[in-house]
Amino acid sequence: MKRFRMSCLLLTLIAVAGAASVQSQNTKRLLEIFYVDVEGGAATLIVTPAGESILVDAGWPGFDGRDAKRIEAAMKAANIQQIDHLVMTHYHVDHFGGIPELARRVKIAKFYDHGPMTSLDEDRNFAEKNAAYQAATKGQSITLTPGSEIKLKQTSGAPALSLQCLSTRGEIAPNKVKTPPASAECTNAEMKPVDKSDNARSVVLLLRYGNFDFLDTGDLTWNIEHKLICPRNLIGEIDLYQVAHHGLNSSNNPLLLQAVKPTVAIMNNGPRKGGSAETVKWLGELPSLKALWQVHRNIASTAEQNAPADFIANLEEQNDAAHMIHVSVDAAKKSFTVTNARNKLSRSYPIK
Ligand SMILES: [Zn+2]
Repeated sequence: MKRFRMSCLLLTLIAVAGAASVQSQNTKRLLEIFYVDVEGGAATLIVTPAGESILVDAGWPGFDGRDAKRIEAAMKAANIQQIDHLVMTHYHVDHFGGIPELARRVKIAKFYDHGPMTSLDEDRNFAEKNAAYQAATKGQSITLTPGSEIKLKQTSGAPALSLQCLSTRGEIAPNKVKTPPASAECTNAEMKPVDKSDNARSVVLLLRYGNFDFLDTGDLTWNIEHKLICPRNLIGEIDLYQVAHHGLNSSNNPLLLQAVKPTVAIMNNGPRKGGSAETVKWLGELPSLKALWQVHRNIASTAEQNAPADFIANLEEQNDAAHMIHVSVDAAKKSFTVTNARNKLSRSYPIK
């Protein structure tokens, strides 16, 4: 009897130890996403369960290295020493302007963009900015094309992880499935005048971790958004949506929003940039959407035209604290958690 009790105790101890080790393994299997506050630019840091890092855009130049310093702070919070993959969505200063300063401060292993550009109609100082970018990449950036993939390290026992490029330069990934006829919704959809700016050439990324899907379209605009879902939805349904173009209403085509059915949307807007009331309304009307989080309050809008204050990382126009929004994806628990670094408010959502 005593022996039986002993073995029961031993089994219990083994079970407890086993549970603890499973838990610690699970902790390592989180996919993390940090929305760095770059004052109306974009800088999204992704750290995979294998510890690999991907930075999508790097904010603005100048301001005494402000944005590079903020990205470094996010890297410190994520406990990573270098950027393994830096993807620049397009050649606008709020996305690629911060890359040279960041490259001076931290090691960046690989650079990706939508291919070389010799001039940009909308930026008369493009040559100078591009020269600084080319110096940072040493001319070694990799051109992403629609349908290409950035290979990421997999973690044994964890779900598959993939990072696909769905669109660059206004072109979409080759369609492997026979294209269905366009629905009336697609054919009758409102279109805008052709956008000749580099926004329309943005790199579109779809990150998948098990059943979790995160879409980052950079500053992609209306007509190309339409192309991504008409006549066939190339994206599918997603869990997390990075609100396009800082929340401007020349992007965020409601037809795309309704097709991809995001559970959560995070907007990297500035106090006076993006965060259009119309975009907030479109997002609010989505039956799928459980919450909108914002990096900044749009100070020109009313409270109703912003996310609830608790879901906004930075409420005031001047805020050196530059609070982040943090996302942690737990594939084992089939949920992801969003945290506002300012007030530590966290909300968890099921993965679809
Ligand atoms: Zn932008």
